[in-house]
Amino acid sequence: VMNRRRATEPVLNAYIHQIPDEVCLEQADCADDKLRRGEPVHILEGMPIGVKDIFNVIGTPLTCASKILTGYVSPYESTVTSRLKDAGYLMTGKLNMDEFAMGSSTENSAYGAVRNPWDTDRVPGGSSGGSAAAVAAGSCLAALGTDTGGSIRQPAMFTGTFGIKPTYGFCSRYGMSAFASSFDQAGPITKDVEDSAVILQQIGGFDERDSTSLNIGKPDLVSGLKQGIEGMRVGVIQNLDLSVCDEEIRQNFEQSVDLFRKNGCQIVSVNIEHIQHSIAVYYIIACSEASSNLGRYDGIRYGHRSPAAAKIGDVFRLSRDEGFGNEVKLRILLGTFALSSGYYDAYYSKAKKIQSMYRRQFQQIFSDIDILLTPVSPVRPFKLNEKMDDPLQMYLADVFTVIVNLAGIPAASVPSGFSAQKLPLGIQLMAGHLKEADLLRTAYWFE
Ligand code: GLN
Repeated sequence: VMNRRRATEPVLNAYIHQIPDEVCLEQADCADDKLRRGEPVHILEGMPIGVKDIFNVIGTPLTCASKILTGYVSPYESTVTSRLKDAGYLMTGKLNMDEFAMGSSTENSAYGAVRNPWDTDRVPGGSSGGSAAAVAAGSCLAALGTDTGGSIRQPAMFTGTFGIKPTYGFCSRYGMSAFASSFDQAGPITKDVEDSAVILQQIGGFDERDSTSLNIGKPDLVSGLKQGIEGMRVGVIQNLDLSVCDEEIRQNFEQSVDLFRKNGCQIVSVNIEHIQHSIAVYYIIACSEASSNLGRYDGIRYGHRSPAAAKIGDVFRLSRDEGFGNEVKLRILLGTFALSSGYYDAYYSKAKKIQSMYRRQFQQIFSDIDILLTPVSPVRPFKLNEKMDDPLQMYLADVFTVIVNLAGIPAASVPSGFSAQKLPLGIQLMAGHLKEADLLRTAYWFE
């Protein structure tokens, strides 16, 4: 892994902060010694895992790929990384991302764009693009990502890896920098489904330090993994507009559905009312929450403080102006607008109503079916700079992923072959509230 990292990093730029080889090797030796002495070790002991640079890891720099956090070193540990520590994992470093997880290409990073290992002229997806690229390139065995509107699933698809976003509240958000708090969830990106099951089982479960953490016991995601999919009821959304997809993606999706049918699953058509508004609803709510969450970066409490500021007002204004990138500024403005008096009812409050409607519909749907299938992204990995001038185009590519976060349900991206140009393809599996075990079992069968 260290060799792979040394060989690939100069091109891929997947890491923002690398733990030096010597430190990693020393830790790996310790794990080896334990094994040799026959001591009981966790399956994750000594496993080289990368961490998206949005999680606090005590004593390590945290940037969220933003200049505004320059110089910030985490004084505490996030719950998910502390649970990996309990298992003895080996952190390889902090992985690159879109600034504050806002984006779908990992081009919005103050530390430079990340490249896709399958074709280095193309993006690895985002915002967890560093995590996905590092796993695909073998510069870590697995990685932690976060998913607010698709940021685990879409880069997993773009890099031919597996990624799962659990039910909202399954993983604690303590110590994970907030973008849109009511959607944000941590999850793994791995080479295969089994690795994700092991990691998610370790990081998931109740945490009293996150008030939105669900009161569930220690999850069991591994024992039933190989049970197969016999008798499963699998849904497809009949009013989902697949004409927005690249032809290859549409065909690959239809072939995948066929595979389920041929293997004894019953395919059920479902309808989701107002599904065409999910992007608008997601971006209104996500930007609104972001505008509030990012208020804490004021040049005083964290990171960058403008040297040019003489008065207190200038400290706020200049530090934020110099520290935030364009996409982040755009979203703060959009969110502030949507929340302002006079527009609140027309935008934010209406979006929340439609969200409740989606939630009710999904509850109904998953009382009848086990798994719902959709594509992950309507497009294949695109070229660097191809969509940077047109944020709306970038947002529209989230058409299949954001509804999952609006509904709060778990979903995964599973590799489903390659395009003619040898670019990875994938399909999205969704499951009902807290049905991670069913989701992983199905993905395990499919991969
Ligand atoms: N692409 C989406 C956005 O830009 C999702 C980001 C995410 O899941 N963090 O908001």
